[in-house]
Amino acid sequence: MALWSRKPKEAGPEPLEPAPPFPEFPYHPDPLKTGSIVESGLPCALCGHRFGFVYTGPVFAADDFVEGPLCPWCIADGAAALRLGIEFTDVGEDVPDEVPGRVLDEITERTPGFNGWQQEHWLYHCGDGAAFVGTTEAAGETAYRFRCRHCGIGLAYTDSP
Ligand SMILES: [Zn+2]
Ligand SMILES: [Zn+2]
Repeated sequence: MALWSRKPKEAGPEPLEPAPPFPEFPYHPDPLKTGSIVESGLPCALCGHRFGFVYTGPVFAADDFVEGPLCPWCIADGAAALRLGIEFTDVGEDVPDEVPGRVLDEITERTPGFNGWQQEHWLYHCGDGAAFVGTTEAAGETAYRFRCRHCGIGLAYTDSP
């Protein structure tokens, strides 16, 4: 008796398109590790490409927002923010005066946001936005961790459900 058996041929998902190099996000350097971008075969709601990754973080929309996943490339080049009128982080009011507006534009319009229990906010150091590096759970609280892009100091804030 044969020890092998032939598996029925499954209609697998369509192959993904060859993707351009993964975009760089200076203020959110590893969005795959933080979970703001995940592997997915879904097409981007804006460009329609199936490059294998979609954004899972928050979207702040002024009015109507196109339902559906966005790819990291449409976030990185500003197309999603520009064409859909959306932002990925609401930086709010507590931004230090010395942080230039172009930094805030980069964080709100061209950087993947992250999901928090409460309203997320960004952290700043050395006159610049810090890089979001992930979360840590401890004692029922979530710490949102950042690192200064200049002096390297670790920064964090916490919230809870
Ligand atoms: Zn896209
Ligand atoms: Zn610093």
